[in-house]
Amino acid sequence: MAVSDHVDFNTFMEGVKRRNPHQPEFTQAVQEVAEDIFDFMEDKEAYHSQQILRRISEPDRVVSFRVCWEDDAGNIRVQRGWRVQNNNAIGPYKGGLRFHPSVNESVLKFLAFEQTFKNALTGLPMGGGKGGSNFNPKGKSDREVMRFCQSFMTELYRHIGADVDVPAGDIGVGGREIGYMFGQYKRITNHFTGVLTGKGMEYGGSMIRPEATGYGAVYFMQEMLKHRGDEVKGKTAVISGSGNVATHAAEKITQLGGKVVTMSDSGGFIHDPDGISQEKIDWIKAHKTHRRGRISEYADEFKGATFHEGKRPWHVKCDLALPCATQNELDEAEARALVANGCIAVAEGANMPTTLAGTHVFKHAKIMFAPGKAANAGGVAVSGLEMSQNSERRSWKEEELQQMLLDIMQGIHGRCIAYGDQGDGYVDYVKGANIAGFKKVADAMLAFGVV
Ligand code: NDP
Repeated sequence: MAVSDHVDFNTFMEGVKRRNPHQPEFTQAVQEVAEDIFDFMEDKEAYHSQQILRRISEPDRVVSFRVCWEDDAGNIRVQRGWRVQNNNAIGPYKGGLRFHPSVNESVLKFLAFEQTFKNALTGLPMGGGKGGSNFNPKGKSDREVMRFCQSFMTELYRHIGADVDVPAGDIGVGGREIGYMFGQYKRITNHFTGVLTGKGMEYGGSMIRPEATGYGAVYFMQEMLKHRGDEVKGKTAVISGSGNVATHAAEKITQLGGKVVTMSDSGGFIHDPDGISQEKIDWIKAHKTHRRGRISEYADEFKGATFHEGKRPWHVKCDLALPCATQNELDEAEARALVANGCIAVAEGANMPTTLAGTHVFKHAKIMFAPGKAANAGGVAVSGLEMSQNSERRSWKEEELQQMLLDIMQGIHGRCIAYGDQGDGYVDYVKGANIAGFKKVADAMLAFGVV
């Protein structure tokens, strides 16, 4: 028997764990995909003989580098930067940059792995990558953030390019950071190209990019409900996070007639039984982005709201749940609490916010459950459209982009149904997303031979 022949699931996962020691997030992400792919590959000899799953779970390359910068007090600070170029079978590497103290190689490899399937699901020609640093922007002055971004880009620029690898934002990287990094890229290379997405509107950014991930996640939720003859209107939603994805998800739920009752940050969550109206969402956006404040202050600002320090919102009764903060923020017990409290649908705005055991609870209970790679793909999809606009040196109107985003999310929903419909009225969206994303990348890899 050739080594490539039908290795079983457990042997495959043991190999992944052996080759990636101390990388729990990465092995978790691979396992979640492999659980579905093994069945799908059963009768597909080419995937086995060409070792596609083994190859797809090994990044093309991981670049790691030192980032030195000087703080306002004149101290020299040293951070580590990374870019994980996971897979470019269907297009240039594409994926965000995360600046957060929890960033390490395991986290970025899991994100780049997920990104590869997510990008395939959008139907746009984008490969998968992810990068970032353990730099913590919290509490830093604008000038400190600028100096860090410039130093980070002084190394990163040699690994990226409009047709090579196009980073974007993620946790801790918003419009301010993208601006500083684009400025430095342009200064070093003298090239004005679409090398980053999430840019400001004045210099090549796309309308609705800031809104796209959160809006897209709610569009996906809307499609799941529609598939069951239901709608967002009149539903109560619990949301975690209070950053880019969370605030825009809250905005779209509200626009569609739903009521959002929680938001959170790493300090805890706020519960507002009256509902977080558009006016209150605007306050959160300004408070978190411009004033760089904490969500706890919401409870001082708005009567009737309570702050729950160090807690997560999953025990609050709801119809819909949207985890939009970070990975592994919804565990097995919390998944059980959601199901017991009558939650009918979960859409992941964040990447891998539900633990593996938590996803098994949702699957077992057969509630609607959209994994991040499907539900939060709206952001990268509009980033793909930003790349097209930059290449063509044009910009589409807001209404056109809104429609394109909705079409793309409906397309992703359709692809999930194609591979996830279990025939008894239940759609396994995790399985559907994994298989649809995998198949596209795998078939491109087969076409290239052994490279
Ligand atoms: P932001 O930095 O704008 O917001 C992150 C939010 O999550 C903040 O409220 C933050 O709280 C909270 N948070 C971060 N880390 C933790 C933690 N360890 N525990 C509890 N809360 C935490 O990031 P985004 O909104 O852009 O990203 C949120 C998620 O969505 C991430 O998983 C990201 O990968 C994913 N995503 C983002 C996309 C985008 O377009 N931005 C696209 C697709 C996915 P605090 O202020 O206390 O840090």
